[in-house]
Amino acid sequence: MKEIKLHDKIFTPYINKRQISLAIKKITQELESYADNKTLVFVSILKGAFMFASDLAKVYKKNAVFEFYRLKSYEGTQSTGEVKILVDINQQDIEGKDVVVLEDIVDTGNTLEKIFEELSKKKPKSLKIATLFYKPEAYKKNIPIDFIGMEIPNEFIVGYGLDYNELGRNLPEIYKLKDVKKQRMADIVLFGPPGAGKGTQAKILKDKLGLKYIATGDMFRHHIKNKTELGVKAQQYIDNGELVPDEITIGMIKESIGDPDSHGFIFDGFPRTVAQAEALDKIMGEKGYIIDALLSLEVPEEILVERLLNRGKTSGRSDDNEETIKKRLKQYHTKTAPVKEYYEKQGKLYQINGVGEIDEIHKRLYDIIKNLKLRE
Ligand code: AMP
Repeated sequence: MKEIKLHDKIFTPYINKRQISLAIKKITQELESYADNKTLVFVSILKGAFMFASDLAKVYKKNAVFEFYRLKSYEGTQSTGEVKILVDINQQDIEGKDVVVLEDIVDTGNTLEKIFEELSKKKPKSLKIATLFYKPEAYKKNIPIDFIGMEIPNEFIVGYGLDYNELGRNLPEIYKLKDVKKQRMADIVLFGPPGAGKGTQAKILKDKLGLKYIATGDMFRHHIKNKTELGVKAQQYIDNGELVPDEITIGMIKESIGDPDSHGFIFDGFPRTVAQAEALDKIMGEKGYIIDALLSLEVPEEILVERLLNRGKTSGRSDDNEETIKKRLKQYHTKTAPVKEYYEKQGKLYQINGVGEIDEIHKRLYDIIKNLKLRE
């Protein structure tokens, strides 16, 4: 069993097939002796309990009836406290009968309480609870849990019917969420020529992943607007479609990231020269950090020009005009493009097709970030 990734989270192996099958054996024996001569009505709680119910059904030797009840309670890894009935059960199927609820897991007990309340209204002769996994530390209710396969600590688990946002149910073993502290955030550079869509995409990623967003272009514009000393120095270069000299840019970056006290940076428009890339590695390196990936948005030149001219109609940016755009693209080819090789040598270059809908491009980027193997 190896670590696995579901959506954005990493899960580590936790309970293997043998342990699961022992737990099923134990609970089945207890249920058989409880059943005695009774025909039990097993009410499996969907979706989570489908595997448990099916494996139990294969080894349970007495007559039994199987019913299914579907509820929804979890959103993500936290119990929402709210439980909805999605598939109900007919009263005549349980009225006057010996009913046993089959749960995959009893956690806070919120779902169980709702099940107990609703099924009781349908007047079963008896109503018992059987759960494959039980978290005593998390359980907050008073309803007795009559049959337990295995007690587990308060971990978020997936597999064997249990999911994380619908994934993981088909795993034959149980995995637990890896300690979040161990799952550090990625430090990435969003790269590309002017008009590649760096700003648009970086902002979406920043919001989705909670990254710290550093955009040198925005910083310079802020300085210019506030007429700071740095702004005055930078303006002539920007208006001219040239790069602001490295010492100014690097100085500004140093100040803004300061002493990085946690991972999770997304850089937009920086580094734009190899000297800046080296400086960034140095600043991050002092903390023991290093850039994990350079995501380069690849867009044909004619599309770049078209996008920038279009943007110029509304951006109010002094550098979004035909003449300056040409200069900026030239600067990109001579000074900025070599940054790609710098990261390629470190095995960190990812080239992404930057043409298409914003959502499509976002998905391309997100898929790469999600699958990055981050150095601890
Ligand atoms: P942007 O908003 O990223 O397109 O940047 C606008 C302008 O700011 C660029 O054309 C450069 O003149 C200047 N600039 C932004 N980032 C840098 C950088 N890392 N190095 C030098 N100049 C930069």
